[in-house]
Amino acid sequence: MAAVAATTPAGARRRSGPGGGGGGVDDGALVFETSHGVEPICTFDEMGIRDDLLRGIYAYGFEKPSAIQQRAVLPIIKGRDVIAQAQSGTGKTSMIALTVCQMVDTSSREVQALILSPTRELAAQTEKVILAIGDFINIQAHACIGGKSVGEDIRKLEYGVHVVSGTPGRVCDMIKRRTLRTRAIKLLVLDESDEMLSRGFKDQIYDVYRYLPPELQVVLISATLPHEILEMTSKFMTDPVRILVKRDELTLEGIKQFFVAVEKEEWKFDTLTDLYDTLTITQAVIFCNTKRKVDWLTEKMRSHNFTVSSMHGDMPQRERDAIMGEFRSGTTRVLITTDVWARGLDVQQVSLVINYDLPNNRELYIHRIGRSGRFGRKGVAINFVRSDDIRILRDIEQYYSTQIDEMPMNVADLI
Ligand code: ADP
Ligand code: MG
Repeated sequence: MAAVAATTPAGARRRSGPGGGGGGVDDGALVFETSHGVEPICTFDEMGIRDDLLRGIYAYGFEKPSAIQQRAVLPIIKGRDVIAQAQSGTGKTSMIALTVCQMVDTSSREVQALILSPTRELAAQTEKVILAIGDFINIQAHACIGGKSVGEDIRKLEYGVHVVSGTPGRVCDMIKRRTLRTRAIKLLVLDESDEMLSRGFKDQIYDVYRYLPPELQVVLISATLPHEILEMTSKFMTDPVRILVKRDELTLEGIKQFFVAVEKEEWKFDTLTDLYDTLTITQAVIFCNTKRKVDWLTEKMRSHNFTVSSMHGDMPQRERDAIMGEFRSGTTRVLITTDVWARGLDVQQVSLVINYDLPNNRELYIHRIGRSGRFGRKGVAINFVRSDDIRILRDIEQYYSTQIDEMPMNVADLI
């Protein structure tokens, strides 16, 4: 498929189409465990999307719906509760953007859709995609996220927006102040929903949920939906359409996975510096398990004259925003970070992910490596494993029926 170069209304950036890098994600070859009666719809034209929104979708550079979009868009816009799982980078979050645009009544100024995400950066990214795709329908969206000015939230919400994309804490705060009025909300979307329903967030989500109208439509989205999460959905969803992926289909062919046996913790650093030239071929994200480790590794890399940037949740939001901006624009190429970056963030140029530390659970592994290989592009993931980590790596490999080989000498050729 030819690459399309489209100018997005939001910022005139060029993007390549589904054929951009690897195998593409629209081939229907993905294996879904789908509710009975969900037939894929292969073009946006056939989805009954309003014309001015269709224009926005094409102008944004989307030519053809991805496999998950082919299956889940219609049930969502028809008002069904939907549980939509698909591999990372296959257009789930983009699908939220286009479905909320289709569903809101832009002649009203009330909030009609609420999207909750686990990190501020993801909530902001989703707001941007909504504003871009919905440009021709004059959609009003607002990112309601912690670390930002409450005054600005109040101003935007009082002015009136159709969609709020936020993090649970700030959204709840705005609801309790009655600045965010919930009576017209008909759709609640939980992006990264397994994370949103996990221990850390569940109470906050419930706190928000009880302020929402009873006839609410609920949509859950994630690349990973462990059994215990699916089990609890019956409590707040009605006869949902389920589009699920078997766990042995969850890793993407386009993302090659490797390990380096570093033996000891102390040997990771030299391994990383040896790889530095490879890191800068395009863009790379390096994951550590703690904020302290991110700070430590960043300092140590810099003291050895390597250029790196870093981000974690203890930094002031202003700084996080600046670092995100530089990384998105490609000004910086190597980002050292925590799991604040593991889910949802979409920077198409990222082609390499390094797990300096192995993640603490199986789901995070999928999300972390999925920061590369966006929408069918090529990606490489490299895991640093100490002798006592080998067991964890083998568990991941088995759990997802995937292959993690020893890193070859020519790894740079694969990027
Ligand atoms: P996910 O939420 O599944 O990880 P995203 O919605 O973030 O995926 O999309 C990943 C990338 O693919 C983004 O850069 C997005 O712009 C692009 N994308 C999504 N849907 C399409 C499509 N139908 N055609 C072309 N590109 C798409
Ligand atoms: Mg997403």
